[in-house]
Formats: sequence, C-alpha cells, structure tokens
Amino acid sequence: MTASLSSSNAPRVAHATVVEEACQSLRTYSHHVGTCRIGTDEMALVDTSLHVHGIDGLRVADASVMPSIVSANTIATVYGIAERAAALIRAKSRASNAR
Ligand SMILES: Cc1cc2nc3c(=O)[nH]c(=O)nc-3n(C[C@H](O)[C@H](O)[C@H](O)COP(=O)(O)OP(=O)(O)OC[C@H]3O[C@@H](n4cnc5c(N)ncnc54)[C@H](O)[C@@H]3O)c2cc1C
Repeated sequence: MTASLSSSNAPRVAHATVVEEACQSLRTYSHHVGTCRIGTDEMALVDTSLHVHGIDGLRVADASVMPSIVSANTIATVYGIAERAAALIRAKSRASNAR
C-alpha cells in the first residue's frame, strides 16, 4: 500500500482496501499468547498463582497465561513466569515441610 492515511493531502484509501492489505500482510510472528490466560473472571483459565481454576494440583506456566501480548520479548516474559512458578512451588513445598 503506498497511500498514507495520516496526511490530509494524501489520497483517501478505502476501508476495505486497508482491511484487505492488513489481512494479507500482518502475521502473528510466532508469539502466541493468551490461550490459558490469568484472571478471576469466568473466561480466565488460571488464577494469579497459576493454578487452573477448578483443578487441584495443576498449574500452567508458559506464554499461554499472558492475558494479552506483551510489548516486549515474549521469551523474557516466559522466563519471568517460570521464575514466579518456581517460587510459588518452592514456597508451597516449604510450607508443607514445616507442618
Ligand atoms: C521462529 C520463532 C522466533 C522467535 N523469536 C523470538 C525472539 O527473538 N524473541 C522472543 O522474545 N521470542 C521469540 N519467539 C517466541 C518465543 O519463542 C515464545 O514466546 C516462547 O518460546 C514461548 O514459550 P512457551 O514455554 O510458552 O512455549 P514453547 O517454548 O513452545 O515450549 C513448549 C514446550 O512444550 C513441549 N510440548 C508441546 N506439546 C507437548 C506435549 N503434548 N507433551 C509434552 N511436551 C509438549 C514442546 O516440545 C516445547 O518444548 C520466537 C518464536 C518462534 C517460533
């Protein structure tokens, strides 16, 4: 697409053309997130401790728990999620051993 939408002197581009161009040129670029997102609403799969709602003893710790795509490297965010999961599991283990 060569026409600009931002300049008032630029030729107008039909909405359908913009949509068609976007559909043909935009890609997910292999950064899939959010299929098991964190939250407290009924559409959320895991809680803030990464537990799957309604299933004891199961956590999810990967890019799927991100509520939406981050504006940063997804892999760095996955490392953060993994570190958080490890800390949560260690804390639970320590609490169990202390009893
Ligand atoms: C081509 C490409 C380039 C990328 N470049 C970048 C980049 O430059 N910077 C960046 O930040 N991110 C990049 N990413 C995104 C980044 O790799 C992902 O966001 C990140 O790896 C997601 O981590 P994950 O743990 O959710 O999933 P994954 O890393 O995909 O890990 C899933 C794991 O589960 C295993 N698995 C799947 N099914 C099963 C099963 N049934 N049983 C057992 N194991 C299973 C898989 O073998 C895999 O090891 C790129 C991704 C791709 C594909």
